[in-house]
Formats: sequence, structure tokens, C-alpha cells
Amino acid sequence: MISRRALLAAVTARERCDFLRLDLQTNEVLTEDWHGSVDESIDPGSLWKPIAAMQLRGASPFFECRGCWAGRRHGRIDVVDAIGYSCNEWFRQWGVRGEVPNSAIGYALSFAELLRRRAEHPAVIAGLRMAAALGTASALGGRYLAKTGTGPSKKHAGDGWVIAAWPADSPQQLALLRAPGVTGAQAAKLLRERVERERW
Ligand SMILES: [Zn+2]
Repeated sequence: MISRRALLAAVTARERCDFLRLDLQTNEVLTEDWHGSVDESIDPGSLWKPIAAMQLRGASPFFECRGCWAGRRHGRIDVVDAIGYSCNEWFRQWGVRGEVPNSAIGYALSFAELLRRRAEHPAVIAGLRMAAALGTASALGGRYLAKTGTGPSKKHAGDGWVIAAWPADSPQQLALLRAPGVTGAQAAKLLRERVERERW
């Protein structure tokens, strides 16, 4: 049963989302519906994880997660599960972050680069597939590759973020969405609604 407060937050978020859509063949921005500038500094929570994971070479290490966000215990997992479940502990123990983007357009272009080079990063792609199929972005489903995040918010407890590309087997387009005051999982649902409504 969804609470009235959650419902109102979801309705407000739908009205006030920021949305950026990119053509993955050309990097052309197809839709820029953004409050402020796509060059401004942002903090979209866990969206950095797949970008950092591009630095992984060879087989993924396994780390034990004994306690994570929202009381989850992910157990002994590799990078695929770590991206799929957005495991903070795996990334903390791996310890590599490297340079990650700091703007909306920076995130979109970094993911575009990852998707173009997907043959070099099969585990990262598998993690994005898992996130969309049954992880934090499961509102999107198996036709997408995706990652969610929760970032700080000026007005709310947090803002929900999601970046998604489709179709999963040969991505043609990518979209980044920020939804104020909701979770990353709810942001994924809003992205799917927008993509389906506009029938790209
Ligand atoms: Zn974990």
C-alpha cells in the first residue's frame, strides 16, 4: 500500500523531473529538459559506480558484504552483483574510484563511452543489465541497461537518479533523469513512463 505522502511526492517528481536524452551513435543531445544547466556540478549518488568499474582489469574480485544500504546483506559478490544491487561495501573494499564525472552532460557522455566500448567491459554491462532486470532499476525491465542513484537534495531528503540505455542488446539511446524527493527506484519508473509515453 503506497502512502499518500509517497504518492504526492511521486506526482510532484513527475512534474519537476530533469531529463536529458542522447543519441548513442552521434552523442547528439536529443532532449534537454533540465532546470539550470547540464554543465552544472551534480551529485547523482551511485551513478559513479559503473564508471569507476571500467577500471577493472581481468576477473572481478569477490568481496563480502555483511551490511549495506537499508539493512541489506549482499554476501560474497563480484562486480556484476555489486552494480546490480548497488553494493556500497563491494566498492568500498575494492577501493578504486578514479575520476568520475561531475555534471549531467559529463555522466551522459561517460556512459555513452562505456556503452560504445561494451565489448571491453562485459561484467559492467552485465551489472547494468541486472540492475534493470531485477535490481534497483527493475521498474525498467530487461529491455534496458540501467543504474540508479540517490543524491543530496536542496528541498527533500534526497533526489532519485537513473541513467538508462536501450535496447539492452544494442543500445541506441541513453537518458538521464533526476526526480526530486523520490528514490532511485522510483526515478527508474518515471524514466520508463517518459520513454514509453514519447515512443522513441
Ligand atoms: Zn552490499
